[in-house]
Amino acid sequence: MLTGVFGGTFDPFHNGHLLPALAVRDSLELELLRFVPLASPPHRPPAVAGGEQRLEMVRLGIRGQAGCVADDRELRRGGKSFTVLTLEELHSEGERNLVVLVGADAFAGMNHWHRWPELFRLAGIVVMARPGHTAPRQAPAWCPARLQPEVDEFRAAPAGQLLWYPGPAVPVSASGLREAIAAGTDVGASLPPGVWNFIREQGLYGYSD
Ligand code: ATP
Repeated sequence: MLTGVFGGTFDPFHNGHLLPALAVRDSLELELLRFVPLASPPHRPPAVAGGEQRLEMVRLGIRGQAGCVADDRELRRGGKSFTVLTLEELHSEGERNLVVLVGADAFAGMNHWHRWPELFRLAGIVVMARPGHTAPRQAPAWCPARLQPEVDEFRAAPAGQLLWYPGPAVPVSASGLREAIAAGTDVGASLPPGVWNFIREQGLYGYSD
């Protein structure tokens, strides 16, 4: 079984998270895709919405999507969220064929993640296009993984391999959405169905009607 692991602050969970991740699910034929909201981001300021609210936004956002689950293990674990611990847990639970999904901006800083070389031993990495980031011709110098141009070969043995996933590139960011919501803009088109309602109901990010 091939499992995808997509971690993020998801503050809020938006179409730039959902649409590329679903496209990866389909083209890699992932049987399971775990969306993992992190508790406390190691490299940036804390989230604005609470953990339960971010988990609920993920649940609402992936509702009805085959193979997709909201995984609360990092929220339950608490403290700084380290992807390597999540991958080790999944391995020990018998899920060993793992693919980490990461946006191109986050991938560029992956060599600062906790015990980062282990990530490449435990999983294959799919780098999802994000507007402003061009496809690399080769893996960066720090990266121990091999850039694999073929989806089928990547799927066959993902650990230690890197796959650039070119689309869809969705020009949305959580910080941009938070600012727009606070400014009174209708951002419903940038969010999965259900998430915008939740934000309004909860009055998140300075929303007021
Ligand atoms: P912020 O704007 O606050 O930095 P964000 O929109 O980047 O937030 P995160 O929850 O920090 O959202 O991102 C989680 C993961 O999703 C990261 O790997 C990030 O690169 C990826 N990601 C976020 N937005 C996009 C997007 N529009 N396209 C592709 N990947 C994205």
